[in-house]
Amino acid sequence: MELKNKNILVVGLGVTGVATARFLKNRGASVTVTDQKKEQELKAFQPLIVESGIRMEFGQHRIETFEKTDIIVISPGVPHTIEPILKAKERGIPVLGEIELASRFIAEPIIAVTGTNGKTTTTTLLGKMLEDSGLKVFVGGNIGNPLIAYADREEKAEIVVIEVSSFQLDTIDTFRAKVAVLLNITEDHMDRYPDLDAYAKSKSRIFKNQQYDDTAVLNGSDPVVRSLSRNILSRKVFFSSKEEKGVTISDESIISQENMSRLLADFKLPGKHNIENAAAASLAALAAGGTFEGVWSALRKFKGLSHRLEYIDTLNGVDFFNDSKATNVDSVARALETFERPVVLIMGGRNKGSKFHALRDLIDKHTKELIVIGEAKEDIKAELGNIKPVETATTMEEAVFKAYNAAKPGDIVLLSPACASFDMYNSYAQRGEDFCRSVANLNRTICYDKTTA
Ligand code: ADP
Repeated sequence: MELKNKNILVVGLGVTGVATARFLKNRGASVTVTDQKKEQELKAFQPLIVESGIRMEFGQHRIETFEKTDIIVISPGVPHTIEPILKAKERGIPVLGEIELASRFIAEPIIAVTGTNGKTTTTTLLGKMLEDSGLKVFVGGNIGNPLIAYADREEKAEIVVIEVSSFQLDTIDTFRAKVAVLLNITEDHMDRYPDLDAYAKSKSRIFKNQQYDDTAVLNGSDPVVRSLSRNILSRKVFFSSKEEKGVTISDESIISQENMSRLLADFKLPGKHNIENAAAASLAALAAGGTFEGVWSALRKFKGLSHRLEYIDTLNGVDFFNDSKATNVDSVARALETFERPVVLIMGGRNKGSKFHALRDLIDKHTKELIVIGEAKEDIKAELGNIKPVETATTMEEAVFKAYNAAKPGDIVLLSPACASFDMYNSYAQRGEDFCRSVANLNRTICYDKTTA
């Protein structure tokens, strides 16, 4: 693909926008970046762009800017359906996503992971499995390092592992994954897709350009994943979770059932969903050239990631877990299923069009009380209010305090919001940190009460 002397428009600044603009500039293109956010809000990224002579358009997307360009590249956060992009497409201007552009400049095999939940956990684990197999690996995409930054660098890996979101898959064209993993499809982002079908179609694009000698790793327990697997050309391997710890696999050419059970027996993370992630990562790693020993070593060592069902502390017999990354209904369902003891659940934040009532049975079975926070508190109360007692809180500190008061020794306090964080925080991580800080403050208060009693 020739980029030299082309006028290229990058839509959306941020980490990926900066990396894309630099990549294009380094290849001799004349680059403009446009972002709807105001200059003030994008201050952190500006010096990275200005120093290399890239034009900027802040605070708006001018139609003329989109029409005067040869190629348009979209950052992952920008919907490909905004008006100026649709208009440019009508005029025949090529529109690519960052992943698509990057993949055209990458010769190494790409292993891609998608799904509604578990992407970051699985991608991270898969990267470690390949590293422990002695391979030089790049891990990135939707986590941390953008793929375009890898395409731009001199030092190459032997294999590339990326997490891809549905938004990124919406803008691929020739992108081909040597191994593609689809973990699950449940309702999410209903504020951005018309229905579940449209969202599922977007996820299934991960298999779009796979050939017979590529591999698709699929969740056989997920009815939506199963239904769309019919159209996949590559070798399909299903993993299906069993009632007891473990999975069954549909094709033993990658690993025998017995060896898969041996691997998973040494995996420590809680919950059936994490067994599914571990099985998917193992199958993908082995299909991509990882070794049994490498996979086993990573599984044994892996401690999980922050803000995903993360144990924080025990105060007077009450265990606190931070699951701030649970931003949709299914991830909360999986968290509740993991616990056998009564849970006081802190939920809420910005509603993404979720159907909270899908949690009714699990709330009834696993929780003793709900504490609701954020913009969605009235929606949650309306859908789940008559099952167990519900209290509202205006800050995380108050939510943690009320949850602790509702719990008895042996119970669990779980932050698992089923919502985005942007009503109160900049990110799920900031929300999780506020939870941890609130638990630490509560601990100090309890200690103080004890010493002054
Ligand atoms: P993603 O990158 O897809 O958001 P993460 O690994 O960051 O996935 O986990 C996000 C949330 O989903 C956490 O609350 C985690 O406990 C939960 N989760 C992880 N794996 C799964 C899975 N396979 N199915 C359902 N929920 C999961």
